[in-house]
This record gives sequence, C-alpha cells and structure tokens, in this order.
Amino acid sequence: MLSNAVQAKFSLAEFLMLESFLKAQIARHGPLSVGEFMQVALSHSQYGYYMTRDPLGVRGDFTTAPEISQLFGEMIGAWVMDVWSQMGAPSRFTLLECGPGRGTLMADILRVGRVLPGFLDAVQVHLLEVSPVLRAMQQDHLELYHPVWHEALETVPRDAPMIVIGNEFLDALPIVQLQYIDGVWKERVIGLAEDAFAWGVRDAAPHLLSLVPQAKKSAKHGDILELGPARLSFLENLMACGKDQNCTGLFIDYGYHELRCGDTFQALHQHQFIDPITKVGEADLTAHVDFGAIRNVFESRDWQVFGATGQGSFLVQLGIVQRAEKLQAQAEDSQKEDINQGLNRLVNQDQMGALFKVIGFSNVSSLKPAGF
Ligand code: SAH
Repeated sequence: MLSNAVQAKFSLAEFLMLESFLKAQIARHGPLSVGEFMQVALSHSQYGYYMTRDPLGVRGDFTTAPEISQLFGEMIGAWVMDVWSQMGAPSRFTLLECGPGRGTLMADILRVGRVLPGFLDAVQVHLLEVSPVLRAMQQDHLELYHPVWHEALETVPRDAPMIVIGNEFLDALPIVQLQYIDGVWKERVIGLAEDAFAWGVRDAAPHLLSLVPQAKKSAKHGDILELGPARLSFLENLMACGKDQNCTGLFIDYGYHELRCGDTFQALHQHQFIDPITKVGEADLTAHVDFGAIRNVFESRDWQVFGATGQGSFLVQLGIVQRAEKLQAQAEDSQKEDINQGLNRLVNQDQMGALFKVIGFSNVSSLKPAGF
C-alpha cells in the first residue's frame, strides 16, 4: 500500500502529464472542442481523471446519492424488482449498470434483492466502466455476484431481458458548446494563450449547426447552447443492444426538462466548483443533462418514456419515507440523525430532490414502472 504522501505525488505527476499532453495536442493540431477536452481529461487511458483515482466521497471531489445513504440503493432495488416482476420474472436477466462508481448502488440493490424469491438466482450483473481503479472497488463490493465488466455496450449480451440503471453517468459524457456571436452560432473551443488553457471560438461545422433545434436558431449575442450528441448516440447504442429483448431502465442525473441557453460545463475539485480549464485531470468535469433530448431519442424509436420527474418525488412515491422510519425504529440514537439527514439530502426540493431528475424507458408496451 502506498503512503498518502507518495500517492499524492503520483497524482500530481499524472496531472502534470495530462496537462502537458493536452497542451502538446493543442500546439500540434489547434484548439480542442469542449467534448474532446472533456473526453481526454476524464478518460485518457493513462492520465485521465477517472482512470487514476476514486473520485467519490468526503476525501474525493464529489458525493453521489448512493454514497449519501443506503436508502437510495434500496429504493432503486425495489424499482428493479418491480420491473423484473412486471417482465414476468424471467429466470435469467441482465442487470446493466452504466458508470457504477464504487459499486455501492449495485451492492444495495442486490442486498435488498434477497427478499424476492428467484430474483438473485435470475440476475446477471454487467457493469459498464472505464476506470481500472473503480473496477477494483466494484470487484471488492460485488464479487459474490460475479459481475462482468464492459468497456463499451457492444459486448453486453443481447440474449436475455435487460434492466438498465445509471446514476450520474450521462453527465460525464462529452458535450458540444456553441456560442451565438454576431448573428451566428460558433463552436466554443479550448486553446492556449501564453502556455495557459484559454477559451476561444471557431466556425461550427455544418453537422453541429444541423443539431441546433428550430427554436434556438437565433439567440442573444453571447448566449451559450449545449448539445449532447455523444449522449444521444450512447442511448441509440443502448436501444440497439436491447431491441431484441424486453429492455427497461432508468437514468438519474442533474439537468433540465427543455433545452435552454446557459453554460453548465462544470468542474468539481474537493467539493468546490472551479474553472473547468484549471486543474485539468484533477477535477470532475460534467455538464447538465437535457432530459427533453433524451425523451426524444427514445420516442423516435417508439419506446415508452416516463418522466423526467424530480428525484425527490420519485423516491417518495417508491416509499423512501416509510423505509427511513423503519430503519430509524431499529437504529441507535446516534444513527437516527444520519438517516434523517440522508433522507433530506436525497428528497428535499432545495437539495437533490428537484435538480436531480429520473427518466425511465421501456420497449415493453404494457410495462408501467413505479415512481413516475
Ligand atoms: N454511479 C456512481 C458513480 C458516478 S461517477 C455513483 O452514483 O456513485 C461516473 C461513473 O461513470 C464512474 O464510475 C466513471 O468511471 C464512469 N464513467 C465515466 N465515463 C464513462 C464512460 N465513457 N464509459 C463507462 N464508464 C464511464
């Protein structure tokens, strides 16, 4: 085991390598699009942010719902069990998690899955994960269930019904930023000024301009518009993967219902928002999710879509308040306050309850998932 001081030095070395790599790329090939910058900073095979660390928790850069309270995973577990039952309780099914972090959500789902006869015998756990560090943690948490890892959707089996979940996954996929300048949309890019990363714009390629919806063909000078073509093609691949079988799932993330102008590209370092072009490779880079666009992708292939609805309302409908009361009844006094705080963070409208949203999808026309 490396000491903390040595680990910190390694992490600093990786950060410097990533920064030099990106700067060399820009010096050689010109400015990078926001998406290219995000992709390399997060997922470069050696130096990328996700490849080199566990970013989660108090000692990391951000905390996610499953890490806040077991209540979250238990509710998602109840949701998955209900979907499995509505699918006719198939004797074998794929449970795919996209971006499983430390494996906490999946572990909580499978822990509550014990209550439903046949569920644990039927489940086959598949994990879509790029980070070797997080894969090792997932292995520790989930080894009882023999998970299978995937770098991409192409290798996920297509011969069994599938239930898909993803918490704070879509926000990590690269975006495009456009900026309205003197009557035209330009593409925002990241270049160099005196050896520091600097924002700029360039002419937007026709294929990007064609993605701008009719209602946003013009805007105010300086407005920024974010598009997520990589997210949409990911969902297209997911639908292709699930199309020959019953496939139902949900994604939870922060975002908005309808596309609007604004800059949501953000970097979190040690729980503080920082400028995304500083501390590159040392901060989590994300952008808010356009749930309207996600809805359209599923509907365009005649899949059912549910929500997006607020995370608070979704969890309350699934019974999180009753579950918290039950846990509190069995808890020591010192734990009661933690349970209460976890519940409040997950559901309160001014905490995660409204900003975080849940969108469900299914290619089974009779299926009505709970919570919407
Ligand atoms: N769902 C977890 C972690 C969210 S962080 C939780 O709620 O705690 C984002 C996760 O997605 C990490 O596990 C990260 O390694 C993974 N990830 C990011 N980009 C990815 C990609 N392109 N393909 C697969 N996994 C990815």
